[in-house]
Amino acid sequence: MIDEAFVRLGVRRTPQRFFIMEHLLTRPDHATAEDLWLALNRRHARASRATVYNTLHALVEAGLVREFALDGKAVRYDANLEKHHHFICDQCGAVEDIDWFETPPLKRSQSKGRIIRTCEVILRGDCHKCR
Ligand SMILES: [Zn+2]
Ligand SMILES: [Zn+2]
Repeated sequence: MIDEAFVRLGVRRTPQRFFIMEHLLTRPDHATAEDLWLALNRRHARASRATVYNTLHALVEAGLVREFALDGKAVRYDANLEKHHHFICDQCGAVEDIDWFETPPLKRSQSKGRIIRTCEVILRGDCHKCR
């Protein structure tokens, strides 16, 4: 499935690209570049941080991975391209996916002439482990 996506989008397959895609898809914990570097190093010793950043950049450019930042902390990477919301644990900082639900449209007095295309909600609280 990852290889198919690489071929479809014209992304050259490298072991690092495959590893990072696989990691993001199988562990949807919204890893940071640092998390991914640590994980990659366990498999491919001496992978540099630059390799991880370059790899992530290529995957984001291809539209396979989305990057987002929360609270001004490190950028996190998400390979779940389905529409979804996020939950953040106030205790441990875990970021989890929440199934998509529609949010009520803004009133005209709120959108003030802006064109609103999507609304992604961030829910906060205690995760299963911390509650
Ligand atoms: Zn937690
Ligand atoms: Zn997500």
